[in-house]
Amino acid sequence: SSTEEPELRSPILCILGHVDTGKTSLLDKIRSTNVQGGEARGITQQIGASFIPVENIRDQAKDLAERLKFEFKLPGLLLIDTPGHESFNNLRSRGSGLCDLAILVIDIMHGLEAQTIESINLLRMRKTPFIVALNKVDRIYEWRPCRNVDIRESLKVQSRHAAQEFDSRVKDTVAQLAVQELNASLYWKNPDHRKYVSLVPTSAVTGEGIPDLMVLATQLMQKIMAEKVTYRDELQCTILEVKTIEGLGATVDAVLVNGVLSEGDKIVVSGFGAPIVSTIRSLLTPPPLRETRVKTQLIPNKSVKASMGVKIVAPGLEKAVPGTSLLVCTEDDDLEDLKAQAQSEIDSVLNDVETSGVGVSVQASTLGSLEAFISFLKKIKVPVANVAIGPIHKKNVMACSIMREKDPKYAIMLAFDVKIEESAQQAANDMKITIMSEDTIYLFEKRLEDHFNAIKE
Ligand code: GDP
Ligand code: MG
Repeated sequence: SSTEEPELRSPILCILGHVDTGKTSLLDKIRSTNVQGGEARGITQQIGASFIPVENIRDQAKDLAERLKFEFKLPGLLLIDTPGHESFNNLRSRGSGLCDLAILVIDIMHGLEAQTIESINLLRMRKTPFIVALNKVDRIYEWRPCRNVDIRESLKVQSRHAAQEFDSRVKDTVAQLAVQELNASLYWKNPDHRKYVSLVPTSAVTGEGIPDLMVLATQLMQKIMAEKVTYRDELQCTILEVKTIEGLGATVDAVLVNGVLSEGDKIVVSGFGAPIVSTIRSLLTPPPLRETRVKTQLIPNKSVKASMGVKIVAPGLEKAVPGTSLLVCTEDDDLEDLKAQAQSEIDSVLNDVETSGVGVSVQASTLGSLEAFISFLKKIKVPVANVAIGPIHKKNVMACSIMREKDPKYAIMLAFDVKIEESAQQAANDMKITIMSEDTIYLFEKRLEDHFNAIKE
């Protein structure tokens, strides 16, 4: 007897990696090659994400897919538009990652860099599977560019020199990944996708390897993670950004991972201070690409179905916390239960502090980045006593200052990608509290090391 095939949703893909490895360029290249060849089949722009329909991937990678005898089943891929750690960190729900597959970009000419390793740690923390785009192959000496072709076709026409350099750089990267305790292999030689990370050589300039990247992502999701991308009715929606927009008021940009959202839905969101209860006034998405020649405003939808990037307009959302879940209160739900659930999501991270009460004070802009930051500090064995989300206020500095008596070496504030209020800085100066401010996690490591060393001396 034939059983009905389960409905699959588009997997959510994030791009991570060190600065200047080509994350934005790859994203642009993926989008532009998909826009070419007919607008009707083109990608759909969503809020914070681009949807690449499977028809496009099939077209773009025809030869490759035929060679692989690959049958496409997914509706497409949903690519998060802002590459980097912040969106990845906020794609979370109760500590788990909501990014289905990540693309870790490594510059083939540079190998692993500081933020590559930071990315690997974040991916591990969220248990997110990933593939590596080994980007900028076109920069290999004497490389003969072959536009938009799959990488093995391109490798066939390279000179002996270029091929040798390519091989040796791949080997170097594999060795560097081994130091990070990762087995890696060129994707077409990968003996086991569950044990080896696949490397896909790419160029965001010539488009080489882009078909491979898309096909491999689709293939992995279908073959190994089909269950994960089986569509579920149970709502799963996470807030990536909070924005106040003229004429609309408070809005949140959210990714709907499973389920349906409708205009008029009663929602519960984690807020700074207290949970927010509101009603969806509108669900906005960009107009189809065809219409974007004239700058059109966002269009309202009666309802949207996962997976999807959407802008939600609802009163009171200015205090929503990015990196938390959006809940819908149906007739069957108890509002107080949902409020408690929303609050506990924040509390679970905020309460993850040293019970002895001795440690540094940390602050980050979103729940997702705070969680990642705390996990990093645990790894480097720096105890944390105070945590908060949002800009540093005077009261946060006051809380930190208590540590001067308990253990002065911990009387420091770590400001991860947050603003420091002038009055807070002033208070810190007066009380001789150091505020270390950085917008990437790895930069704290050296500064903390220096700080603790200076105290020892
Ligand atoms: P990001 O910081 O990771 O987003 O990197 P960008 O996409 O901004 O790229 C950084 C620089 O590298 C830019 O000057 C790009 O034009 C260049 N670049 C990106 N990808 C490639 C590539 O595949 N080949 C070459 N030759 N240059 C690239
Ligand atoms: Mg960029």
